Amino acid sequence: MYGHPVKSTCTHLDLVADVDPGEDVCPACVAIDSSWLHLRQCRICGNTACCDTSLNKHATAHFRDTGHPIMRTLEADQDWSWCFIDEETLEQDADGRWRSIDGFFDAGVWFARGLLADGTASLPFAAEATAGEGFPLGVWEATYRRRHRDGTIDPEQAAELESLPGWRW
Ligand SMILES: [Zn+2]
Ligand SMILES: [Zn+2]
Ligand SMILES: [Zn+2]
Repeated sequence: MYGHPVKSTCTHLDLVADVDPGEDVCPACVAIDSSWLHLRQCRICGNTACCDTSLNKHATAHFRDTGHPIMRTLEADQDWSWCFIDEETLEQDADGRWRSIDGFFDAGVWFARGLLADGTASLPFAAEATAGEGFPLGVWEATYRRRHRDGTIDPEQAAELESLPGWRW
């Protein structure tokens, strides 16, 4: 479990089926005598394939070939899914509700808290402000301010921003 969950906007979740457990190899890599780094499983048909940091990227190839949009990690210590179409990282809570993980929001909050705590910066951040190794802090702030204006921001995210010292809408 990582990140801050928000309501998912993915419209493909009703395609998710009960599939058999994944395999412990990428069959497409085995067939061409190749190797892989991490395994993913299609949540529509159960196909096991390798991740995008693997040489052959068979999970993405499976999506392109079949249009099956949702896959999950088969890494033992992880439990997340990914929608290729919405480019959304998803997790399912104990009640079966799907939530989206917004890594961009979490990273920005983390950087903002650090800078505000040690007095290196104050709100509002400059539009071109960056943090860490080039994280676009100004763009991050503008993104969630825009969502707030549009009324599309997740309420938990709004509350978290309001808890930053000096935050004003
Ligand atoms: Zn989707
Ligand atoms: Zn593969
Ligand atoms: Zn599939």
